[in-house]
Amino acid sequence: MNSGGEGKQGDVSLRTIVQSMSEGVIAVDQKGRVLLINDSAKRQLEFEGKIEGQILASLETETNLSGLVDRCLETDERIEKELTIDMSRHQAVVEITVAPLRDVEAGLAGVVIVLHDVTGMRLARKMRRDFVANVSHELKTPLTAIQGATMTILDSASMPPETRERFLQNIRRNADRLERLISDIMELSQIQQGPDHLEFEPLELRRLVADVVSRVKEFALEKRTTMIFDVQGSPVTVEGDRAAITSIIENLVSNAIRYTPLDGQVEIWVLGDDQQVKVGVKDSGIGIEKEVQDRIFERFFRIDKARSRSLGGTGLGLAIVKNYVEAHGGKIEVESELGKGSLFIVTLPKHRPSFRPA
Ligand code: ADP
Repeated sequence: MNSGGEGKQGDVSLRTIVQSMSEGVIAVDQKGRVLLINDSAKRQLEFEGKIEGQILASLETETNLSGLVDRCLETDERIEKELTIDMSRHQAVVEITVAPLRDVEAGLAGVVIVLHDVTGMRLARKMRRDFVANVSHELKTPLTAIQGATMTILDSASMPPETRERFLQNIRRNADRLERLISDIMELSQIQQGPDHLEFEPLELRRLVADVVSRVKEFALEKRTTMIFDVQGSPVTVEGDRAAITSIIENLVSNAIRYTPLDGQVEIWVLGDDQQVKVGVKDSGIGIEKEVQDRIFERFFRIDKARSRSLGGTGLGLAIVKNYVEAHGGKIEVESELGKGSLFIVTLPKHRPSFRPA
């Protein structure tokens, strides 16, 4: 490292390079003493204070890096391994490479350990796998029902017309469900490709809510839900994507009606100042228990699967809402009490965010 005319300067810049790497790097001598460790390695292993000069084995509790170091020193061969480490707050998956550190003159001088945290990558891969499995399962259910009903009709030539009608209605219901599922899945996958497809324009929120309220009028009438919304109030403008904001409001209002028993009440309000706008959707419905209030935003999470399905839900509505809200740089909160009702509040920045959330 200290070769030629570079002198000390060369050492310093090499250290700086190692220090700024996102991978964790630890160099250990033949006795297992730490020669160098960068901040990323300290963070990943939750090491604190001055580490250089200490024996690696004496610092470890959850890992056995020193075991790998010994093996590497013995065999003089590079070792690659994936470890799951129990950290204080989470489980981390780390790809570890332990390689012999050779000095041109002195031969084997120790080993270098490189730690690559792949927890996020593994999690994303698992989420994709789970999503594909969920999608397949969700699509299969209505499809199987359609196949069953079709076969029954085809197999019984003498079926009474009323029975045939019942089977045909069943086919239609399930075909509608398939259509809803597919369009929700497509909407969600489009949002998740990034916010680039959003077209920001000034929108008047009160107008948008009024349009949604008039679109869900029939559904509200069926459930004898009293809809409360002040159409005449002062206008509240926000910069946003029209389709996305409409979808946010529509999903929240439909859910409010859907999860409120007959003769209930749904109230929608909008508020705004120079910085941000808020939309609140409050219902007098079945409510959501505390323990699952975070989970309802997950894809396909439903508190009562059969109930959601029979009410026409897909389990994707709130995942779509959350993704849209975040693509606008906003947040969504829920306050709810079982048996009393729920209040969903969406907060959006008034102006298009300059940053683009990942
Ligand atoms: P779904 O299509 O099933 O309605 P969502 O993603 O819109 O899917 O909602 C997820 C789950 O959250 C629902 O299945 C329901 O259990 C619960 N939920 C959503 N909104 C409400 C609400 N206003 N009141 C009570 N429960 C709700």
